[in-house]
Amino acid sequence: MSRFAALLLVVILQAGCATTEAPFQDADPSRIARADVERVITTLAADDMRGRQAFTDDALRAADYLAGEFAAAGLQPLSGTEGHLQRFVVRSIATTDAQVTVNGSEVAIDRVGAHLGGASLAWATGDVNVMVVGPDDDARPAMLAALQGDADALLLVNEVHVDAFQRLAGFLRRPVRVVGDAPVANVVVAVVNATADATYSVTASATVAEDGLTNVVGMIPGHRTDEFVLFSAHYDHIGIRTAVDGDSIANGANDDASGTAAVVALGKYFASRGTPERTLLFAAFTAEEAGGYGSRHFSTQLNPDQIVAMFNIEMIGTPATEGPNTAWITGFERSTFGSLLQEAVIGTDYTFYADPYTTQNLFYRSDNATLARLGVPAHSISTTPIDVDPHYHQVTDHVETLDLDHMTNTVRAIAMGAETMISGVATPTRVDPATVN
Ligand SMILES: [Zn+2]
Repeated sequence: MSRFAALLLVVILQAGCATTEAPFQDADPSRIARADVERVITTLAADDMRGRQAFTDDALRAADYLAGEFAAAGLQPLSGTEGHLQRFVVRSIATTDAQVTVNGSEVAIDRVGAHLGGASLAWATGDVNVMVVGPDDDARPAMLAALQGDADALLLVNEVHVDAFQRLAGFLRRPVRVVGDAPVANVVVAVVNATADATYSVTASATVAEDGLTNVVGMIPGHRTDEFVLFSAHYDHIGIRTAVDGDSIANGANDDASGTAAVVALGKYFASRGTPERTLLFAAFTAEEAGGYGSRHFSTQLNPDQIVAMFNIEMIGTPATEGPNTAWITGFERSTFGSLLQEAVIGTDYTFYADPYTTQNLFYRSDNATLARLGVPAHSISTTPIDVDPHYHQVTDHVETLDLDHMTNTVRAIAMGAETMISGVATPTRVDPATVN
């Protein structure tokens, strides 16, 4: 144990001793105030946040603001974070140059692509697994599987697939980004007619950059310190876009300042009630829009087996087509999370139902999927008619287009729905990771 870790432990123990174990007060979601929801969403979606794009100072400014909100809400920091800021590093590896010779002939530069795991590589015959994509194979999925896999490979793609290769060129030029120091496979693709026993030599190089990203996290310690109920949303958005009528800022009010405001309001509400049975976690993730790096890092900082449920809140600013007091849940059939939520609000004005937009794959389009891959009953809750929403990822995603009373009602309904999971009365079944792509 390092000296720093020892000091940290003392701090944590002292923080633990200082916790007063006030009993958890009865639920009264009417105390969730529209003013809190409105303040957070309005601040995050203001033009001076410039669309909160991850990897920019704008996102860091939003994180600093949210850390203040988490503290004011009465949320405690997690161990290993700087206050409420959970900082981490993402490596970006951009291939700059790759040369492939097969059976003594150099492959044309526009028929070579590579994703590297480090600054350089040099392979000679026998060094690496050679995979051949033959004339009758389905080239695109084969190339994608290799590029997204975790094994080094040299792909020799038959020349009949040159168009499929060209369509992947943009993807190949993009840097590979990875959280922390996780290993990345070296994959080189060459369009050339050859068999697996071809002789070859490959040299390639890349630039490796490191960028800092920041989640905002907090907790309410419960009696059960190894059972967590997680409330989350992503605070990042897509930044500056092509101007429309002189407006170039994608404010991301609905996506997902609305969910982030909900997380703050839920934190304040539950923190005001004393010590819950289960420990509650609150996370505002960065970089959801850029590849989900915030939730990926978060998921490595604790034991996912101890997360009993994840309420990921996405785009709750617009009433659902099923009615004003309704919200839907992605991946409804993957665990009992949704039906437990439904049961918990019986007798109220509010109903939860299954995601009606299953062809949109929304279960996979937010941070919940990262935790679901680890078995967590992790679902997104949303209300926006995503199929017809004219403001989705547009510069017009402004607070003025939203219904803040509806939003506040939805936050209250989520609070009510979570009550039995927080008290330990209800525990959703786990998601089967084998069924999550
Ligand atoms: Zn979103």
